[in-house]
Amino acid sequence: MRSQARVVVIGGGVVGASVLYHLTKRGWKDVVLVERDELTSGSTWHAAGGFHTLNGDPNVAKLQEYTINLYKEIEQISGQSTGIHLTGGVMLVSNRDRWDWLKMAHARNRYLGVPTELIPVKEAKKHWPLLDEKQFIGAMFHPLEGHLDPSGTTHAYAKAARVQGAEVIRKNRVTDTVQRPDGTWDVVTEGGTIQAEHVVNAGGLWAREVGRFVGLELPILAMAHQYLITEEIPEVVAFNKETGREMFHCIDFDGELYMRQERTGALVGTYEPNGRPWSPKAAPWDFSTELLPPDLDHISDNLERAFQHHPALAKAGIKNVIHGPFTFAPDGNPLVGPIRGLHNYWVACGVMAGFSQGGGVGLALSNWIVDGDPGFDIWAMDVARYGSWANMSYTSKKVTENYGRRFRITFPNEELPAARPLRTSPLYDRFKAMGAFFGVGYGLEQALWFAPKGKKPAEKITFRRSNAFPIVGDECRAVRERVGVIEITGYAKYEITGPGAETWLSHLLANRMPVKGHLALTPMLNEAGKLIGDFTVAKADDERFYIFGSGPAENYHMRWFEAHLPKDGSVSVRPLTVELAGLSIAGPRARDLLAKLTDADVSNEAFPFMTFREMDLGVVPAKVGRVSFTGDLGYEIWVRSDYLLAAHDMIVEAGRELGLAHFGGRALMSLRLEKSWGTWAREYRPIYGPLEAGLGRFVSFKKNDFIGRDGVLKEKEMGGKLRLLTFTVETKDVDVIGDEPVWHKGKVIGWITSGGYAHFAGRSVALGYVPKEIAEEDEGFEIEIIGKRYKARPQREPLFDPKGERMRG
Ligand SMILES: Cc1cc2nc3c(=O)[nH]c(=O)nc-3n(C[C@H](O)[C@H](O)[C@H](O)COP(=O)(O)OP(=O)(O)OC[C@H]3O[C@@H](n4cnc5c(N)ncnc54)[C@H](O)[C@@H]3O)c2cc1C
Repeated sequence: MRSQARVVVIGGGVVGASVLYHLTKRGWKDVVLVERDELTSGSTWHAAGGFHTLNGDPNVAKLQEYTINLYKEIEQISGQSTGIHLTGGVMLVSNRDRWDWLKMAHARNRYLGVPTELIPVKEAKKHWPLLDEKQFIGAMFHPLEGHLDPSGTTHAYAKAARVQGAEVIRKNRVTDTVQRPDGTWDVVTEGGTIQAEHVVNAGGLWAREVGRFVGLELPILAMAHQYLITEEIPEVVAFNKETGREMFHCIDFDGELYMRQERTGALVGTYEPNGRPWSPKAAPWDFSTELLPPDLDHISDNLERAFQHHPALAKAGIKNVIHGPFTFAPDGNPLVGPIRGLHNYWVACGVMAGFSQGGGVGLALSNWIVDGDPGFDIWAMDVARYGSWANMSYTSKKVTENYGRRFRITFPNEELPAARPLRTSPLYDRFKAMGAFFGVGYGLEQALWFAPKGKKPAEKITFRRSNAFPIVGDECRAVRERVGVIEITGYAKYEITGPGAETWLSHLLANRMPVKGHLALTPMLNEAGKLIGDFTVAKADDERFYIFGSGPAENYHMRWFEAHLPKDGSVSVRPLTVELAGLSIAGPRARDLLAKLTDADVSNEAFPFMTFREMDLGVVPAKVGRVSFTGDLGYEIWVRSDYLLAAHDMIVEAGRELGLAHFGGRALMSLRLEKSWGTWAREYRPIYGPLEAGLGRFVSFKKNDFIGRDGVLKEKEMGGKLRLLTFTVETKDVDVIGDEPVWHKGKVIGWITSGGYAHFAGRSVALGYVPKEIAEEDEGFEIEIIGKRYKARPQREPLFDPKGERMRG
């Protein structure tokens, strides 16, 4: 066996084979895949082989489309059939909410370029003749659906990789991965050790166990899943005879079923609400091409529904039951990318839909290994979206919840209950007693709104405006008219210290660094000059800075910071997590409130906009930034979390005579819309350049080199392709959620990133990207919300305080 390779891919399921193929496609030939048993002997061999492009994240949906279009290519290179049947599919719905959901999915497909169609049930029956029309109210036709042969497909990837120079070693388990002092990896196998530059953990069912070789506890869990294959069904035979074609793939959302034709019968799979984890603590190494014993009793309720919705199934004999495990991450999306702190250690696991996603995962990961960047926006599948809080118990609860909801709607205002509360700030109990309705971000409970006295903090889940709408409106008005306080502990904060701190930050971030006692807003760019972060930087002292950014991106940003730290120890970065807690006060009386808390001079002259001070607020030592995401006069007050309750007490006490109100995350999102301010992971993502995103003024071309400078200079020269616009939308009772198409003169030309109701301005607002050629036009825009197109108009200046007099004054 060879003793060296540039990359060792651990695991020969569909995902590992795809990673291997894509590495060779990028020209890397010195790559080897090591498989414990035979290729496919994890979850791949017993998969139902279905595929589609449906995903909650449009960027993942695009990678799914890429996967499906790849099958012809690997067949051609390998000469191995994937057994692909691109039948097309129908998705059936039985209730109004799901119909609304389909309308939104269909609308999103308009800008993804997938020609789906909403069709009546009787039309769907022409493609899935087994359905009972009475059970459904509508359907969507989807052209990119079908099924394939899981084993043939995996072998096609592996063979295509071999044709292009890769090696596949079978029957050889990897027993350890050990990093040498020079950063290379010893991949220890039963047959000897391979020294490699890069290691890819594509261990599928055993990815967690492979991760444990290096002390990683990956947030993945396998669930036991069943599908059955029926005997011949006369209706299927008749359909084939009559039409000369196969039945479509079919998803029956309310039945929680996926189905397709299998020979002259049907394959019926289901996600039952009470799913069961498989080997929750450790997957046995001797499990291979085995199945779990059939247990139809466990899915009997779902089967009842299948028989009711598709009566021909009730009469069909069952030929075979497939019961096997496959892995999920807590949110059901894959875990892909480099692991923070482990140089050249990569994962491609937790892929629950290997035949829809495997190609896109292989493409993104191989780009990342070769170029240092995935080349796409893969935030939704980046392994860094989870922090160490996502431990085995958390994962177990969330995966079980997610599995049972596979075909259920998660509403945009729905807060799912599993594994909560997990991380809480010291204010949690106090806010709960005050009637806070909580959401969760990066595992941390955060108040979204506060129920008025005597009312319960409960929210009706909906795609439209909820019962919280007037409450959030009152919170917004309290901020704009008096003063409000919000907890901001959920922001990420980092302390950067050392003699090299300023030089390093200046290279890492695109804007000029602030002078001592000041703040600066700055994007962070990747090498290509695309947005990978937006921060507020505070210079507290010559060798001490603080960065404030998006909470859910903490691990993602720490991975980037650490990978770029100088080796000489001149800079250190520390995430402050909930150790540093925050309260923000905002509104016209915010300064009066602050003045009551401190002896320090907080006049506009002494403490102007975008400055930063360390001061005592009564007994509490605090760091205070004169900035607020509300866009109003405001302050961000940072205190050690053991001082948080005392700080809150003082603010409440001092605020009483100023009409202080508490406000939550929903109001904050509404207030920032009035300033046309974007947020990380919605408006600011790695597919956009800073000029496209309207952040050009925060990029300093005057300063010396910084990461992404060449890319952003190119963007400046060419003008980029897109522009972020704010629209006001002429709606009465509904607002955008995000991912709606933007129409212009009858054509879909862009998409919405976020929006909602701007309560103080009294307007429905949407932020989104359009081609730069259209960005200057004022007329002809429409935004499609739940199947209806509403007139929209670009809002050229902020709805609130366009000159920024309030925040500066
Ligand atoms: C019943 C069922 C139905 C399904 N239906 C579908 C479907 O219709 N469509 C769809 O897209 N997906 C479906 N899936 C899911 C699909 O099977 C997975 O998404 C896919 O198999 C994941 O592939 P993988 O390569 O990540 O993992 P695996 O297939 O588990 O592959 C991992 C490989 O790594 C090897 N390995 C692990 N550890 C080591 C080690 N230490 N050394 C060497 N080798 C190692 C294993 O032997 C294995 O071959 C289904 C799954 C089940 C169980």
